[in-house]
Amino acid sequence: MKIFVVNCGSSSIKYQLINMENETVLAKGMVERIGMEGSLLKHTPTGKYTVDLPEDIPDHAVGIKMIISALVNPEYGVIKDMSDIDAVGHRVVHGGERFADSVLITQDVLKGIEACAEIAPLHNPPNLHGINACMEIMPTTPQVAVFDTAFHQTLPKVAYLYGLPYELYVKYGLRRYGFHGTSHKYVAQVAASMMQEHMTDLRIITCHLGNGASITAIKYGKSIDTSMGYTPLEGLIMGTRSGEIDPAIIPFLMEKENMTAPQIDDYLNRRSGILGISGLSSDFRDLESAANRGDERSQLAIDLFAYKVKKYIGGYVAAMGGVDAIVFTAGVGENSPFMRDKICNGLEYLGTRIDPERNKVRGKAQEISVKRANVKIFVIPTNEELVIARDTFNICKRIIKL
Ligand code: AMP
Repeated sequence: MKIFVVNCGSSSIKYQLINMENETVLAKGMVERIGMEGSLLKHTPTGKYTVDLPEDIPDHAVGIKMIISALVNPEYGVIKDMSDIDAVGHRVVHGGERFADSVLITQDVLKGIEACAEIAPLHNPPNLHGINACMEIMPTTPQVAVFDTAFHQTLPKVAYLYGLPYELYVKYGLRRYGFHGTSHKYVAQVAASMMQEHMTDLRIITCHLGNGASITAIKYGKSIDTSMGYTPLEGLIMGTRSGEIDPAIIPFLMEKENMTAPQIDDYLNRRSGILGISGLSSDFRDLESAANRGDERSQLAIDLFAYKVKKYIGGYVAAMGGVDAIVFTAGVGENSPFMRDKICNGLEYLGTRIDPERNKVRGKAQEISVKRANVKIFVIPTNEELVIARDTFNICKRIIKL
């Protein structure tokens, strides 16, 4: 069975075509700058060169059509015909309280995703564009939605409610939802298998540290707390997002800086975080080299990030009554031995320590704690596309004749 995995952002579409017989990627790529000048499709058939296909791509529907044409192209395509795609798996950011698992998309499910757009106005509408485009182009191919929030639907009320009047939760669904769920679930599963244990027997803290960053406490297989909240703005300090701040700062800024609500939103989402602290960059690679040259604010941004991650780890150890494994994933987590070392420095009280030699690993699944550590520390590259493909496969194998 061949699964087309689609991840639509506001101006981009990332995709992979995965053969589920051996879980191999046949082709992958990205449509960039939708609706802007310079839009193009970058398409890479596995094991071959990348082709750049510049074209006017006014919307997601045109982008999806271009991807399908590339997939069936006689020169750089990987399938003969569109009908070789057995099912489509869509990443959907927000599933609200309705979707605690991946689902086959029906008209009713579409309405549910539309309803969640009210709480995720930036993310769910482009996801819906992608779904609608695929349903139009491939009307008889089953489509599945895989939600970023679903894995966190097991959070208990004490972890997901804010200290606001309860009526606001009932009226508007104002609560913690959490994000990066497919990533947290995947790396926890891999960690459990590397420990030759079942996730249901372990307490795992997963640190998804990329441009967006979140941490999750997974107790005996279930997410019981996570750092992102009602939106992906809460929690850790991130590339350009502030993470948690005192909410009283918002009316203060509105008054003192004469800012409107959209301006504040832009400030907190795109101009804060390590970019705001360093005044230099949202990329940890830039900060690490600037700090090495003696740039104090870059050093401060690095210190602040590592401190926050460590604080969350401590908090989640308390929430779970202990921990068996800590996992690092995403851009920083997979590639920065320096940051991993800084975060774990001081966790010896838990009965763990990083092995400097093992910690040199980049982008590969490996245990990085010292031998016989009570708490194992792992680097595990995330693979959200594979989770989407697996969920789609599991849902569709019942309805597709193989
Ligand atoms: P992601 O959002 O998971 O794609 O992660 C992107 C972020 O990972 C970038 O903004 C960088 O800050 C970070 N990153 C990638 N490679 C490295 C590296 N070798 N060292 C430090 N940070 C890295």
